Parts: sequence; C-alpha cells; structure tokens
Amino acid sequence: MPGRYNSGAVRQNPKSKSSPESKTRSFPSEDSLSIYVHYPFCSKLCGYCDFHKSVLDRRREKIFLEALLIDTELAADELRSAYKNRIPEITTLYIGGGTPSLIDLKLFEKWIEIVRRRFKLSDNLEFTIELNPESTTKENLEVFRQAGVNRLSIGVQSFDSESLKLLDRRHRIIDTHRAVYLARAMGFENYSVDLIFGLPGQTPAKLQDDLEELLELEPNHVSFYQLTVKEQTPLESKIKSGEIKLPDDDEMAIFYETGCQFLAEEGFERYEISSFARKGKRSRHNQRYWESKPCLALGPSAHGFDGQKRYSLIADTGEYIETLTNDHRRPLIWDENTLQNRMTEHIMLGLRTTAGIDRKVFNERFGRSDSELFDQDEFARLVEIGYLIPSGGKLCLSDKGLNMADEITHRLLAD
Ligand code: SF4
Repeated sequence: MPGRYNSGAVRQNPKSKSSPESKTRSFPSEDSLSIYVHYPFCSKLCGYCDFHKSVLDRRREKIFLEALLIDTELAADELRSAYKNRIPEITTLYIGGGTPSLIDLKLFEKWIEIVRRRFKLSDNLEFTIELNPESTTKENLEVFRQAGVNRLSIGVQSFDSESLKLLDRRHRIIDTHRAVYLARAMGFENYSVDLIFGLPGQTPAKLQDDLEELLELEPNHVSFYQLTVKEQTPLESKIKSGEIKLPDDDEMAIFYETGCQFLAEEGFERYEISSFARKGKRSRHNQRYWESKPCLALGPSAHGFDGQKRYSLIADTGEYIETLTNDHRRPLIWDENTLQNRMTEHIMLGLRTTAGIDRKVFNERFGRSDSELFDQDEFARLVEIGYLIPSGGKLCLSDKGLNMADEITHRLLAD
C-alpha cells in the first residue's frame, strides 16, 4: 500500500501510463532475471486493500492455476525466443498476492515443476512467498520448503486486536505467534514481517508496544509502512463518513521516525523507505526492482519489466483465464515508454533507497546525465541543507532527507 512511507515495491507500477496493445518482449542483454507471481485470492477482503483479489473459491482457483500453468509455459517460450541461446538465470522468485498461503498445494507443486523445467534457476535463488498468519500451516510450509522457498514474508500488520479488526484482518495475534513458531520449527530462518503504522487511534505508546512485540518474533527483515487510504475502498468510505479518523501528517511523521529509531537501535538497517534488514538480509527481489532490473510477471495484475518497457498482466482474473485458456495468449498491457518516463522513474526509485543513484550507471543506461533532469537551484539548496548527498559517483538522500523522499524528489524533478 504505497504512500509517503511505503515502498510498494513488488507490485507497484510507478507513474506510468498504459497502452493496451500486446507486443513481443524485447528482453535486454541482462544475464539475470526475477520472476513475480500474483496469486489473486484471499479468505476475506481487508477494507484498506486495493490489490487485485477476490474471495477464494476452490473451483475458480483450480481454473486460475491451470491458466497460470499456461502463462508460465508461454512466458518461458517468449523468453527463449527473445534470448536465443543465452537464457538468463532466475535469481529471485517472489509469490505475492492476495494470500499465497491459501494456494492449492497439489497445483502449486505442478507449477513449480514447470518453473524448474522451463527456467534456469540460480543455485543462489532467493525464493520468497507471502503468508498470512491464519493460513500458515505445517502442511503448506512443508510443501513450500520442498519447492525451494527460502524466504517468507509474513503479514503481521499489528499486534493490537482492535486494529486488526478495524483493518478487517482475519488473523488473531495468537495466529501470528503460531505461524512464526511453525516457520522456525520447519527450518525457515529467513523471514520478513510487515507492520503497519498510522492506524486509527494509534498512539506512540501503542506503536511502541507493536514494535516490541514484533521483536519477539525475531525477524531478520521488517517492512514498516504507513496505512494509506486507497480510492474506493471501505476504509475510504469510513473516513469520508467520519466513522474513523487517521493520524495527521505530523503524527505520521512522528510514528515513522519512532519506528526507524527503534529498528535502528535493534540492529536493523534501513535500506529503503519502508524496508529494514539485519546485515546480509535485504530483500534481493525488491532491490532488483528498485534498480530497474528485468522482472518477468505472471498472474493477473502482476507487473514486469523487460529491461526496456514495463508491463502488467490484465487485472481481471476472469479475462486472464479466458485469454490464456481460449486464445493461448498472455494478456499483457504495455506501459508508455518515453525516455523521460524511464529516467524519472529510475531517479524516483533510486532516491527511495539508501544506496541512492549510481550516476555512472544512469549515464550508461540513458546516455544522459541525471543532473539534466534536476532543477539546479533546488539541487544546490537540497545539498546545502544536507538533504541530498552527491558523493563518490552516487547521489543519495541523507537520513533526514529520506524521511521526506517523495517531497524532495518532486521538488528536484520539477520542470
Ligand atoms: S489479505 Fe492482503 S491481499 Fe488480501 S485483502 Fe487483505 S491486505 Fe489485501
């Protein structure tokens, strides 16, 4: 749920327009690739969420998964013809949703068999799956482990029962502890947890309680993000009607800084606005996204990047199934691809990370200098007040600057 303090990393499609025509991929000369898969079912729909999803119906899920198998085979064919004999290695594989922990395990096994047969998976593959606490079981963890999953992303969100209810989350706090206990018992050491801040009625003391309880789960990665109001969601209606109220911008800023400070003191390094990791435990998948590295998308509404153009698959599970099953075609929607869009997007994504922008890479990729895009007066001012740091061939935001990354990027790129 991207907002001021959100990455929205895997599914987000930043600032680009789409055109509906379908084209053949033009994969670049990269030798590595990520895969993102969107599983579009949940057991219950949360009132704040605008991801593409619907309530799980096992019969429909079966038809969807059969379509996903076709999608995967077709994508492998496209890749093979685009790359000729130089098939890239898949270095990260990420299954998000939706609630992938609900997936039919037999069909999941069939799918992973196709992935293994049709793609070249790296020996050092990072394979992540998102789990919701209430649907994490010994059975699905075992199947995921056997399939090669080596990283879990667990949707904890809050340790306050009232807040969980307010968000329409299905799980209870005890489910969270049980899910993490099971994961650890099954040998998963590498797991991330999501925590939301800026909940209605949240106080600094409540946030502190959430952060302390989160620590008890011993994660090595935390996604700490702000609750934002998405259009046409039940949360938006409740706010419009005055039924609930979110903290204001100043309170949000205090919550964010409190969380950042707490996590830093506990040994987590912030490497992107909402991403915090113990040493060596950053999400490689998300990092590739921020660095604009190629990613193959599978499943309705999933976003991909072929190295030159971004695209998504149609955000309609019915049409997704129909196009694949009846037309034997992937329902791709390609984004507009102006050089200006790509450069702007590269800067926006880069400045949200602590690594910042590698200015040489920018120059090599676009044949232009990043500074050509900046408002020069604003650039000088931001450097002078210590928000922007140009150093060692990189351009990044300071700690203070990162807290206001969106505003700063906006000012910097103003025409
Ligand atoms: S479980 Fe996740 S994807 Fe499903 S509705 Fe809730 S927030 Fe959205």
